[in-house]
Amino acid sequence: MNTIWHGNGTVESTGQEKGESLWIQKQFRYADQGAKEPVKRPVLQEDITTDVAVIGAGLAGVLTAYMLQEQGFSVVLVDYKTVGSGMTKNTTAKISSQHNLIYHKLLTYKGEERAWEYASANQKAIEKFEEIISRQGIDCDFQILPSYIYTLDNVLKIEQEVQAARKVGISAVLAKETTLPFQVKAAVRFDHQAQFHPLKFLDAVAKQLTVYEHTHVTEVRDDGTVVTEQGRINAKSIVITTHYPFINTPGFYFFRMHQERQYVIALEGEDIDKKAGLGGMYLDADPQGYSFRNFKNYLLLGGAGHRTGKSNPPDAYVKLEEAAGKWYPKANVVYTWSNQDCMTPDSIPYIGRYSANTPNIYVATGFNKWGMTSSMVSAMIISDMIAGRKNEFQKVFYPRRLMLSGSKELLKDAAVVTINLLSEHLRITHDRLRDIGPGEAGTVLKDGMKIGVYRDKYDKYYFVTTKCPHLGCSLEWNKNELTWDCPCHGSRFDYRGNLISNPAMRDVFDACQRKKK
Ligand SMILES: Cc1cc2nc3c(=O)[nH]c(=O)nc-3n(C[C@H](O)[C@H](O)[C@H](O)COP(=O)(O)OP(=O)(O)OC[C@H]3O[C@@H](n4cnc5c(N)ncnc54)[C@H](O)[C@@H]3O)c2cc1C
Repeated sequence: MNTIWHGNGTVESTGQEKGESLWIQKQFRYADQGAKEPVKRPVLQEDITTDVAVIGAGLAGVLTAYMLQEQGFSVVLVDYKTVGSGMTKNTTAKISSQHNLIYHKLLTYKGEERAWEYASANQKAIEKFEEIISRQGIDCDFQILPSYIYTLDNVLKIEQEVQAARKVGISAVLAKETTLPFQVKAAVRFDHQAQFHPLKFLDAVAKQLTVYEHTHVTEVRDDGTVVTEQGRINAKSIVITTHYPFINTPGFYFFRMHQERQYVIALEGEDIDKKAGLGGMYLDADPQGYSFRNFKNYLLLGGAGHRTGKSNPPDAYVKLEEAAGKWYPKANVVYTWSNQDCMTPDSIPYIGRYSANTPNIYVATGFNKWGMTSSMVSAMIISDMIAGRKNEFQKVFYPRRLMLSGSKELLKDAAVVTINLLSEHLRITHDRLRDIGPGEAGTVLKDGMKIGVYRDKYDKYYFVTTKCPHLGCSLEWNKNELTWDCPCHGSRFDYRGNLISNPAMRDVFDACQRKKK
């Protein structure tokens, strides 16, 4: 197996930036659209008024804005980077109502009515994708395919899921044979699911909307004011689709979610052409297993998941490459990337009113790595709510629901945060700066303060403060991606201290570095 490109920037470069997904490669994103470059959109620089302000232009924000606009509302969508620059650019883009083995869990802990709502909402989301794509003639490599969750050891849990899915109206099938390059014990198959190129779809929908890019929202007020660094938006309703909500109180989402990362490699070559035309999408029921899907003549293999900032595997891409090498020895790794998502204790997203005290502010978050259909479900529910209509599926996604079924997960999350906060000042990994080797990182005491240090292979040192600006947790070094990651809520920063992903709202430059700037 040949590795052309590694996520950490080693080995030969093919001109890509570090860890860029296949979706953002120009030849796939723009080639069929006659455009070679992304659309340039304005920065908000004045005060404006609109019916609805949507904050965050990932799939959830774009679809919500689109559905509201279709219903006659004036809508403004803002993003602090660009359309599709968040988690949506790094997904594997399976459009499926098959969210791991969720239906048995839902029936057990939430009852038949809530389980039916979840299934029906996600099935309807697939139909809605199909309808928008076909009505608008969107070229986004959309393909209808079956989706499988397989097991290598536990047939019973697959059988239970088949029964549970059938009970809530999905015609699930128990499969013993698959097109995977190894024998499985059993699999549950859902027919008429889909896959697509997420950014081609997003670009086509977003070009119909009023979007301001590079517009950082710093505050949202109860009176309908959205404050950005340059201008303000006065809106009757506000929708927060920033992946992880950046407002801590009210809402307290930080108390009810953590983030998990996962890694993806794209393979090509003779083996893939011959053996890996899967004709379906696959995921192992075991969280340590693998995910498979095709895109054109590539195979996307995902896995090596873990909680962001905790148990960072030093060799996530190596693990994926070794697995690929076993099944496809003649394949080449051509793209590698990673992504993370917000995980809720009961595996159900939070979609609806942000809090009891903010009737005109809405939220869509906690997609548990199933954000394609969850984004569409968010758009359907929130647009109904703003239009004053009752949505028949909204109850199961109610953001302030009781979490009895997820109480163990909630306690686990609380324990991670408490231990981290208590030990923030204790974990100093090196006595002296020079003890940190080239290409390594660690923490040292400087003027009585704990700081994080990355020493590059040319002996240049980069300093950060390791206290996360979100809620003060201690950042952990991620060797795979040369980043500082927060184990509590999942904020991430590059080795220079620049913010990569929220809920933190600012960078973590070390104080002395800031003075020099
Ligand atoms: C490895 C992996 C594979 C996955 N594969 C699948 C899959 O196959 N199918 C599936 O359904 N799901 C999948 N997911 C999940 C899916 O990718 C996400 O749930 C989804 O992309 C989230 O979309 P979003 O719109 O909520 O967030 P994002 O795409 O992150 O959008 C949020 C936007 O908000 C902006 N923003 C943030 N803060 C501010 C602010 N203060 N002001 C202005 N803008 C702001 C950001 O710039 C960003 O553009 C996967 C997840 C992982 C980790």
